[in-house]
Amino acid sequence: MNVKNCMKEFEFRFVTGSQNLYGEEVIEKVRNHAMEMVRVMDGQISGKLIFKDVVTTPEEITHLIKEANYNDKCAGIITWMHTFSPSKMWINGLKVLNKPMLHLHTQYNREIPFDDIDMDFMNINQSAHGDREHGFICTRLRIPRKVVAGYWRDKKVMEEISNWMRSAAGVVTGSSLKVVRFADNMRDVAVTEGDKVEAQIKLGWSVNSLAMGDLVTEMNKISVDEIDEAFKEIKEEYDIVTDKIDAIKYQLRIGIAIKRICETGGFDAFVTCFENLYGLEQLPGLACQLLMEQGYGFGPEGDWKTAALMRIMKVMEMGLPGGLSFVEDYTYHLQKKNELVLGTHMLEVDPSIAGGRIRIDVQPLGIGNRNDPARMIFEGHAGDAIMASIVDMGGRMRLIVADVEAVEPVKAMPKLPVASVMWKLLPDFETGVKAWIYSGGSHHSVLSYSLNSNIMRDLAEIVGIEFVHIGKGIDIDVFKKDLILADQMWKIK
Ligand code: MN
Repeated sequence: MNVKNCMKEFEFRFVTGSQNLYGEEVIEKVRNHAMEMVRVMDGQISGKLIFKDVVTTPEEITHLIKEANYNDKCAGIITWMHTFSPSKMWINGLKVLNKPMLHLHTQYNREIPFDDIDMDFMNINQSAHGDREHGFICTRLRIPRKVVAGYWRDKKVMEEISNWMRSAAGVVTGSSLKVVRFADNMRDVAVTEGDKVEAQIKLGWSVNSLAMGDLVTEMNKISVDEIDEAFKEIKEEYDIVTDKIDAIKYQLRIGIAIKRICETGGFDAFVTCFENLYGLEQLPGLACQLLMEQGYGFGPEGDWKTAALMRIMKVMEMGLPGGLSFVEDYTYHLQKKNELVLGTHMLEVDPSIAGGRIRIDVQPLGIGNRNDPARMIFEGHAGDAIMASIVDMGGRMRLIVADVEAVEPVKAMPKLPVASVMWKLLPDFETGVKAWIYSGGSHHSVLSYSLNSNIMRDLAEIVGIEFVHIGKGIDIDVFKKDLILADQMWKIK
């Protein structure tokens, strides 16, 4: 797996802009300020922040950006104009920038030293106008970037930088992401279809397929010892409530084989489909759940968009609590003023969102026409979360994110043989569900307790796809009008 284990493996260059007008002494002070800021901020933000010099000439700027572009470890640059840095110097560099960019608008000194302020102080605390000059050229060049404004030691500023780093990590991960499909799209389903070429152009996702026979061949190579070893591990971690051990072991065989194929082929996400199980004795259930828990993206019914989105969100959430899962809106609890959605799937829900103990059982499945599959059964925990769905609008991708509130199940559901999670829509059931339907959101989405809508919005902005947000305070009439305007705007683009 091409997994990075920690957000700190994503490097961001901190670039301080200035010019040669002020003399070497001032530049040295600027350098020291920037280095101190990087040192302090790096200890409190998600990604790795690296001081990359004070740039004062067009050549230095262009060289630095070219180097950032071609360095695989570099996930983005953060610019800050400590002093005035005439922006025509930045044009050649910014024109070739292909990494995510954040413009930090801050100042080394928090307060004006009223009793001592003189022109020397003014000269080394000029962000107020230096960053405006920088802002103009980025806007003039239509550079997508995040602007963060405020005092650099403030928690809110650090948090915004941290979150943006997660968005950038998602973009960079997506740019080399490979998704393997063991089946085509579910027959006749529309929303899980999409333009794979467009997805690769915009998001970098490379989506290709293998035959189900390739998986079956790999499964036949897995030894009984390997499966027994894997069984021992899950037995320690989960409650096994069935005596149909062979069915569980069959899922382990599927899981190990998928993982091996992924490792060999460099795939970090995969899809299956219950309509294409030729050569398989069970629909992959427990197998998918174990792989999702390890960080793989997954989509059922050939849904490669959800699989890819889930994978990059797994990277973006690294180090945050809460977990995330592929999930499907399944059925409603329409009690007045307490309307809830019950989300689940045939089998495949990620145990990273489990609230309590997880049990493994083998139960019949009316779909797929195979043997009873093994699956993990649990209930998702309560907490604020988002649902993210990516759809192909024809000519463009749209990322839809809804804020939701996951809740404890109203009552136990002893006969429900799958993992599930319940949530409340915002701002209310009717508005939330209408907005989702008007915007074309899928019945498949990624439910994340760890990420938020701002992180997802920044991701969409960096790669240049449409973003639609559903949350507190939306008005359905305004929302509908915004969708119409967006259609016009994206046509112009
Ligand atoms: Mn489905």
